[in-house]
Amino acid sequence: MASRKLGDLTEAMRDKAETVQRACKEAGEFELLIYCTLRPLEEQARLFRQSRSRQQIDLKSQKFRSRGLVFLADILESVGPCYGDHVTNAAPGESWHNYGQAFDAVPLIGGKPAWNYMKARSYWDAYGEAVRQTGLYWAGDWQRFREYPHAQLNPGGNPLKSMNADEVYTALQENGLLSR
Ligand SMILES: [Zn+2]
Repeated sequence: MASRKLGDLTEAMRDKAETVQRACKEAGEFELLIYCTLRPLEEQARLFRQSRSRQQIDLKSQKFRSRGLVFLADILESVGPCYGDHVTNAAPGESWHNYGQAFDAVPLIGGKPAWNYMKARSYWDAYGEAVRQTGLYWAGDWQRFREYPHAQLNPGGNPLKSMNADEVYTALQENGLLSR
């Protein structure tokens, strides 16, 4: 299960998450439920696999191995076959959720999560604005594969583009995702 604890975010991200929650309360007078912070690599692997063919999975695994990211390839293979909708572009290690540098949130209206963007547009837009004002990046602004709940610390979509294998390994060790 992914964590929803703000304490599982990096310190910089935690501060900003709290700022966004405060801003939503002040500007739009609504509560913001942060329902996903740190996501385990196995869960990321299952989400990635569920909408992909064996061939696509093998290709990703080979790419990981050729870059020295054997530990990510092992996890991708270990979770076995999964079936479901396309929900992510990110394999394990490719989501900022695996580094505590992203969160997913939903506005609460009358205590209930307003999942549908079109039905609660003013709330979602207020959330997006609070995310931008805090210096984070909102996936509701993305042109491809828009995700209204998702906010992250860095502009880039894929953490593996800015880290080498050793840095990835160290980061995942430190946040406890490789030691389980
Ligand atoms: Zn997310």
